[in-house]
Amino acid sequence: VAPAPTVSFDDRFARELPELAVAWQADEVPDPQLLVLNDALAAELGLDPDALRSPEGVRLLVGNAVPDGAKPVAQAYAGHQFGGFVPRLGDGRALLLGELTDAEGRLRDLHLKGSGRTPFSRGGDGLAAVGPMLREHVVSEAMHALGIPTTRSLAVVATGRTIRRETLLPGAVLARVASSHLRVGSFQYARATGDAELLRRLADHAIARHHPASADAENPYLALFEAVVAAQASLIARWMLVGFVHGVMNTDNTTISGETIDYGPCAFLDAFDPATVFSSIDTGGRYAYGNQPIVAEWNLARFAEALLPLLSDDQEQAVALAVAALERFRPQYNAAWSAGMRAKLGLPEGLDDAVATSLAEDLLALVQESRVDLTSFFRALGTAARGDAEPARLVVLDLARFDAWLERWRAVGPDAEAMDRVNPVYTPRNHLVEEALQAATAGDLAPLQQLLEVLAAPYEERPGLERYAAPAPGGTGPYRTFC
Ligand code: AMP
Ligand code: MG
Ligand code: MG
Repeated sequence: VAPAPTVSFDDRFARELPELAVAWQADEVPDPQLLVLNDALAAELGLDPDALRSPEGVRLLVGNAVPDGAKPVAQAYAGHQFGGFVPRLGDGRALLLGELTDAEGRLRDLHLKGSGRTPFSRGGDGLAAVGPMLREHVVSEAMHALGIPTTRSLAVVATGRTIRRETLLPGAVLARVASSHLRVGSFQYARATGDAELLRRLADHAIARHHPASADAENPYLALFEAVVAAQASLIARWMLVGFVHGVMNTDNTTISGETIDYGPCAFLDAFDPATVFSSIDTGGRYAYGNQPIVAEWNLARFAEALLPLLSDDQEQAVALAVAALERFRPQYNAAWSAGMRAKLGLPEGLDDAVATSLAEDLLALVQESRVDLTSFFRALGTAARGDAEPARLVVLDLARFDAWLERWRAVGPDAEAMDRVNPVYTPRNHLVEEALQAATAGDLAPLQQLLEVLAAPYEERPGLERYAAPAPGGTGPYRTFC
């Protein structure tokens, strides 16, 4: 029998921000069964994977074995949900076990999702189902492998408890790792208390953890805001380039670290169309693929409002500073997106901006018209750069226009090798994720393990994995996600 893991948690968040932390404990789990463990992440955190697999280790992963010195808390936060302000959200089904120092000396939160009701649960049951927690595991680890900043998943443990959704489902707890769980909504909560000293302490905590260079700026809180604007501009550009639709970009799901968080209703585009919405509750299309940059900017405006008392003693001056800083979001987003699109197209260094922009825009118009699968299409363009345009021509409707585009693009000398380094072969396609989750929910974990292996090396084309690289089969109807 493997020894129980030795873990020592810090409680820095709870110590520095007691007003935002409620001491709490996880529900007792009747029959914890480990479904998936992330060995590489465990090692990164200095945890022994074998010890985590032991009965005591699994109890730790559901919050039932609390290491000495750990003080689990539910975190308070507010948030704009679909545009409406909710002053008290908080961890309704989650628990921060504490912070760990990883192998590189960075502080990382270990956090549970689906661990039972808390004082923030409102009408909810505090629980999570196996399917959605495995989904978060698969998609967040895929994002990480793609090089996109994200929370990670250490493990998913089935609880042996049945939970009530549209149907009865098996319950699970996800052990999530993040560089912190500070959100725009955390600042909105602190601001709404009217306690200016709390807001300042929260900002100082955020600066120390995520944007330490801001501490040396003339106006550290303005520098914090600017750093978050830059991090979010870069993050959303990465989402757009890979075809990721977050699905629930509320301000409580917008991190201060710039990591992607909350994989509830997210999904990858099957066919390029800016109007794409997957979430069953996003009936107005607020969080459609093409709206994501604008929504991020809107969320950052809410962050600025929360920070106003810290930006200047003169509130008119504070607003002017915030507006000027927020105006940098669009150019930063555009620069990050353009640089990413240049790389995807293999464009040579130093190519004129106007040429690069018109190549990108004209191509996107073509792929939108043809409802093309972005992932496989950009790999097919790599093949076109090597001389064989047929795989790409196969999926485009207006061939005359596409051939003209190909001629312009080839004339600038695209670099096929460079394209293959940035255009993934494997992304968590909806039909593949669903297939793996259905098997896992029915007790067969093999397809999930196989999918995780494929997605862990997304840029490296491997023989025998053709079905993982292929677009969704037609005729399945629109894909719907639920959170
Ligand atoms: P989300 O839309 O996933 O960001 O969740 C918004 C809020 O609802 C957060 O405060 C969550 O903790 C809470 N929440 C979501 N699902 C549940 C649930 N099953 N039980 C209690 N709270 C929940
Ligand atoms: Mg959330
Ligand atoms: Mg959620």
